[in-house]
Amino acid sequence: MSMTTRNYDVLVVGSGPGGKHAAIAAAHMGKKVGIIEMQPNLGGVSLQSGTIPSKALREAAYLNSKFSARGMRRALATQNKLSNSDFLIEAMRLKNTIVDKQEAILLNQLMRNGVSIIPGKASFVDEHTLEVKSPARPPDQLSADYIVLATGSRPRRPKSVPFDDKRILDSSSILKLSRLPNQLTIIGGGVIACEFATMFALLDIEVSIVDSHEQLLAYLDADITSILVEHMENMGIQLHMSTTVTAVKNTGDNVVVRTQRNEEILGSHMLYAIGRIPNFEELLLENINLEAEDAGWILVDANYKTKIDHIYVIGDLAGKPSLASTAMEQGRHVIGHAYNHSFKSIETPLPMAIYTIPELSYTGPTERELKQSNIDYIVGNASYEETARGQIIGDIRGHLKLLIDRQSRKVLGAHIIGESASELIHLGQLVIGYGGTVDDLANNVYNYPTLAECYKTAALDCINRLEN
Ligand SMILES: Cc1cc2nc3c(=O)[nH]c(=O)nc-3n(C[C@H](O)[C@H](O)[C@H](O)COP(=O)(O)OP(=O)(O)OC[C@H]3O[C@@H](n4cnc5c(N)ncnc54)[C@H](O)[C@@H]3O)c2cc1C
Repeated sequence: MSMTTRNYDVLVVGSGPGGKHAAIAAAHMGKKVGIIEMQPNLGGVSLQSGTIPSKALREAAYLNSKFSARGMRRALATQNKLSNSDFLIEAMRLKNTIVDKQEAILLNQLMRNGVSIIPGKASFVDEHTLEVKSPARPPDQLSADYIVLATGSRPRRPKSVPFDDKRILDSSSILKLSRLPNQLTIIGGGVIACEFATMFALLDIEVSIVDSHEQLLAYLDADITSILVEHMENMGIQLHMSTTVTAVKNTGDNVVVRTQRNEEILGSHMLYAIGRIPNFEELLLENINLEAEDAGWILVDANYKTKIDHIYVIGDLAGKPSLASTAMEQGRHVIGHAYNHSFKSIETPLPMAIYTIPELSYTGPTERELKQSNIDYIVGNASYEETARGQIIGDIRGHLKLLIDRQSRKVLGAHIIGESASELIHLGQLVIGYGGTVDDLANNVYNYPTLAECYKTAALDCINRLEN
């Protein structure tokens, strides 16, 4: 018996942040929209195994530590730290509650906007038709004028690493631990590695990082990352830089990591946190002659359109920056583009946040990038210590750096490490976005006492250097 095909204006594959925002944007335009999801839970990596669970556990680790009670406040901190097993129970409860609530909100948003939720795995039959298979139902065929692929990515798991998801973990399985590690060895020194390193170190777990680079987060300016490294070293994190892993052995009781320098690092657990792989195999792209590039990402133009006019690719599947924040905007963007609706392109500079403890956030170029582009710039610095708010909250190592153009006085970049860096960055981003100058930041009135006053201090520092 031949299958009947249901028709939609827009079909979205994947219910992560990219897919969700594309589906809702199309529904707002009155389009008939279906969102296809192969996992039993909605929300993608962002909600189920990445952004939100990791940030919920970070918050739990932070609250259970005295890090938030630095300096003079330490004496006032009365909370008793939970034992590791009690902590894990409470932290997982917190994480699960947040994920469940967010998923319920997502479901409600999709339903009230009239988006059809279609459970199952999607693959292409032809350029306008997808087959959806799920264990619970016979296969279904759906067609659409526009198809948005937002199937995301998964952790890279090289064959040489004997993952068992109990002791040898990736960034998804580490979020489901049933027991906290005694010692955790992390392979990789990127964003995810650094975030987990500080989170676990704060729980008094011995953490080691093995990374091939000379410097952690080497694409950032060293004056900012050195503050993070100092915090990490104070937390007892062991950094094994400029070396690679040659062997990983699970003894049953421990994980032994051997490095190129012949070091042997013993841990109860190991996290492999190098790289992610795009999810495209299930889509059977060969049926529509759409190929992934060598690295697996699908080639798109500036509007996230593939070489097939009505098929868009967004989020992690489209490659860097591989963030939930950008996937959401890409979702809105492609629907605006498809329907020729007035829409705003994704503006640079983008805000970037690294949720280490303390957090680090930046927007615009680094000093290294400005030098490479031969831009004549001025640096202005402000320390949280100089602000009353910094003293009150006890974050005296927090720092904000502004980069401005010497001639035009325009703000080019902002780099922050310290409490609330991921929130504070948006002020700098906004000023850069509208072409604002250092004078805009210097003349603005700020709430007092706040950390945002650092913008004024750094702006005045720039002006001082300009004038002298
Ligand atoms: C540990 C960790 C921490 C992170 N922290 C942050 C952060 O702090 N801030 C930030 O902005 N980003 C963060 N990210 C990145 C962020 O999670 C991703 O960039 C984001 O989830 C990508 O969204 P997406 O919509 O492209 O896809 P995803 O969220 O990956 O969702 C893709 C969905 O598509 C579904 N799917 C795949 N193939 C098919 C198919 N054939 N048929 C049907 N369904 C399919 C999948 O089941 C999945 O649900 C983090 C990632 C990790 C791993």
